[in-house]
Amino acid sequence: MTVPFTAGQSDPTVQPVPTSVVEQVDAADHTLSNPHRAVISLGSNLGNRLETLQGAVDALEDTPGLRVKAVSPVYETEPWGVEPGSQPAYFNAVVLVKTTLPPASLLERAQAVEEAFHRVRDERWGPRTIDVDIVAYADVVSDDPALTLPHPRAHERAFVLAPWHDVDPEASLTGRGSVAELLDALTREGVEPRADLELRLPE
Ligand code: AMP
Repeated sequence: MTVPFTAGQSDPTVQPVPTSVVEQVDAADHTLSNPHRAVISLGSNLGNRLETLQGAVDALEDTPGLRVKAVSPVYETEPWGVEPGSQPAYFNAVVLVKTTLPPASLLERAQAVEEAFHRVRDERWGPRTIDVDIVAYADVVSDDPALTLPHPRAHERAFVLAPWHDVDPEASLTGRGSVAELLDALTREGVEPRADLELRLPE
């Protein structure tokens, strides 16, 4: 039952908070003030692609323990591994976040965002409403197939490196080197900036 509380009236249900609880909360706050940086790549090639990307950015921001710090420009990318023209082009973007979630929880959240947008998972290179990949998490290196870090193909994908470089020109990919240099080594063919489109940084 909710007891209405009127300003100026003391609330008998409010008890003093024990010191031990205050200490625990302070300790948790300390963790929150020391979040890890992570880089997330978004791609969509079905439906209203821009709206879907924005929805994913907003859903990430709505995650407890995660703050979206930067949102890249949008790129339009020809799909890989399929007959040219057989699938709509992707819109891609990169999001920089700070988070207190551990990597596995961040992946769970990324997958929940994909599910929320009804991503089609049947075909490996099939069209997808939204693809949310973790490009990097702090300097973590992992070859776990469930969560490989950095993402095993990020270093060869201009549609990841170009938007990442736009929002963080000094960035480097752990174990691979500077994003600027990795990008220089790749062709940008089929990866076009869409300066006419913009994603909003959540407030
Ligand atoms: P994909 O269909 O290419 O998005 O791959 C999804 C699968 O890749 C999922 O089963 C994830 O567990 C796995 N995976 C491994 N490393 C990563 C990563 N860095 N980011 C997202 N998914 C990953």
